[in-house]
Amino acid sequence: MMVDETFSKQELSRVSEEFLSLKRFTSGGRGPWHAVPDSDWNDWKWQLKHRINNLEHLEANLTYLSAEELQGAELANTKLALGITPYFFNLMDTNNPRCPIRRQVVPRVEETHQTSWDMSDPCGEDDHSPVPGLVHRYPDRVLFLVTDRCAAYCRYCTRSRLVSNASGYGFTPDYQRQIDYIRRHPEIRDVLLSGGDPLLLSDTKLEFLLKSLRDIPHLEFIRIGSRIPIFLPQRITPDLCEMLKQFHPLFMSIHTNHPRELTLEVKEGLERLANAGIPLGNQSVLLRGVNDSVPIMKALIQKLLMCRVRPYYLYQCDLISGSSHLRTSVRKGIEIMRQLRGHTTGYAVPQYVIDAPGGGGKVPINPEYILSHNSERVVIRNFEGKVFEYPEQVDLPETQEDSIACCSQTAEGISQD
Ligand code: SF4
Repeated sequence: MMVDETFSKQELSRVSEEFLSLKRFTSGGRGPWHAVPDSDWNDWKWQLKHRINNLEHLEANLTYLSAEELQGAELANTKLALGITPYFFNLMDTNNPRCPIRRQVVPRVEETHQTSWDMSDPCGEDDHSPVPGLVHRYPDRVLFLVTDRCAAYCRYCTRSRLVSNASGYGFTPDYQRQIDYIRRHPEIRDVLLSGGDPLLLSDTKLEFLLKSLRDIPHLEFIRIGSRIPIFLPQRITPDLCEMLKQFHPLFMSIHTNHPRELTLEVKEGLERLANAGIPLGNQSVLLRGVNDSVPIMKALIQKLLMCRVRPYYLYQCDLISGSSHLRTSVRKGIEIMRQLRGHTTGYAVPQYVIDAPGGGGKVPINPEYILSHNSERVVIRNFEGKVFEYPEQVDLPETQEDSIACCSQTAEGISQD
């Protein structure tokens, strides 16, 4: 490894010690709730009931609250509710407003600032909604919003217009109409249950929804998008996993942004889901002061693999109203990706995307690896910056013999099975 001259040996060992400590799995602990019995603490309904959800709670449990946070908390419940589970609260530095965990869930006054690009519905979901709570933007799949509630509220939430109903959106899903729409559209083969957080529903209600969807013959694939394994790992009970495993193929996309969110409790919950046969992927949002650095992002994605979760997408933060203080430049995102691809396990590297404003869908954003391309060669750059050439192949038209050979091979393969 080349040693950067700007780092002394001591500094390098400090950096690598910090990196290793980010990758350690530790418990979130009990913090101010140390006297609470295990039976309550491990009960997801107790956690929900005791959420930090107003300024008074914040002041009682944080050692220091900045002026920006104080004003933010006063205004929060008119825009997007303030809500933090006691479990997740304990991951925050109570003395430091710059704590990356805290920046994600404690409101700040900057949320009232608007830029000319800010939008309330940056992905144009409302314009692609044939029935309330169903977004049909891509031909073969739909987004099925089941609730507007979450275990905790992310200050950069793309759906903050409706989530928590703090600004009076009045989200009213109608499960029967949503299911009927899917039944009447045979082109839909993939449903993503989201919200809000679907895992906030009771096991019974969730089972009803999954069963209704599985009864639709043309539906091939169901996904659940949830941040509950991170905000409320107590919800990942053995009973929930037993119920979910009846509905395969069922995938789950979790959402985590910082390696410190991956605690022992979270790891155990994710293992229960993986043991139930549910393939797990992660979606992160690139956030200023949270994960906009290579060591943090690398620790996060490596730790996810240890939890049996495949890093899937890294989103450029949507242009959601009042989130500019959390947004980074695309240039920085590309640079982070450049320092991940080839520098760690390929399975760990997510796809960096921008959800095109106004409903254009996800667009992959990559560092430049193709330097030039013509009919004779493609010139490429590898992860070390070295340049290589690959001869361009001429695509010959398929002959009749090729297709006969191809079909007979397939037939043989089938008969041997
Ligand atoms: S958990 Fe998801 S839906 Fe809920 S506030 Fe966070 S980003 Fe929004």
